[in-house]
Amino acid sequence: MSDVIAVVFDFDDTLLPDSTTLLLESRGIDPDKFWKIDAKNLLDQGFDPTLAYLNLILQNIGPDKPFGNLRSEDLRAFGKTLDNKFFPGVKGLADELRAMVKEVAKDITIEFYIISGGLQDVIDGSDFVRSTFDATYGCLFGADESGTLKRIKRTITFTEKTRYLFEINKGISPLDTSKNQYLVNKHIPDRERRIPFKNMIYVGDGLTDIPCFSLIQKNGGTAFGIFKPAVAASAKRAFLEFVKTDRVASTHSPRFAAEEDLGALLRAAVTTSASRILLARKQAEFL
Ligand SMILES: [Mg+2]
Repeated sequence: MSDVIAVVFDFDDTLLPDSTTLLLESRGIDPDKFWKIDAKNLLDQGFDPTLAYLNLILQNIGPDKPFGNLRSEDLRAFGKTLDNKFFPGVKGLADELRAMVKEVAKDITIEFYIISGGLQDVIDGSDFVRSTFDATYGCLFGADESGTLKRIKRTITFTEKTRYLFEINKGISPLDTSKNQYLVNKHIPDRERRIPFKNMIYVGDGLTDIPCFSLIQKNGGTAFGIFKPAVAASAKRAFLEFVKTDRVASTHSPRFAAEEDLGALLRAAVTTSASRILLARKQAEFL
């Protein structure tokens, strides 16, 4: 079995500004009203936050509504417009990390994933995402016979994000899962899992990332938290939620170039992971 390192990213506010907010703005929907009044109203009724926003989007789909007869292709077309929105240093990062891993050992590979509570069609619409990431996981709508999006097909909330970490860990592809939703529960002994959690690096910004942070850190991987220094509430929340509980190694602003703190630490985490794999192999030769 060849050794694989996985770098797993949240999407919104981690790799680029919140894509759902940008989508709402593109259709003339006031994001402040959407999140702070309409979505908040559903939260007050006990809705799960992800289901609240997905239901609100569905309510805005229809002949005389802001989204019109929204189709999956429309969301992908919008996703394509996000290609110039990624945070500094995001593009080019994967190629650089691949080269760094090859320096350590030619037969260690590195893969890149996105696990997001945002809309998967928007994420996959980006040319950059499709050319860079090995798999993406996000919320999905289902269409009616005419192709108009009408139902919620998949939500990814809080602890559900970890389900996809387990799929990556066990080597279960999105195609496998689309045929059997229960596959993630398959028992696979630790030593046979495709990507051990200790070979994973997770980068996320939000409360929905906390279960992933915990899972990765507890199992010997590395988690980095992102905060937006420009937004006081977000920065404070990131500080309070992440740092005090040892859930992440450290928190950083979303700048991924080599000379930035996050960029430097991410590179160090990847080369450390590769070196650790190499060391374990050499030790095994002497057993
Ligand atoms: Mg996020």
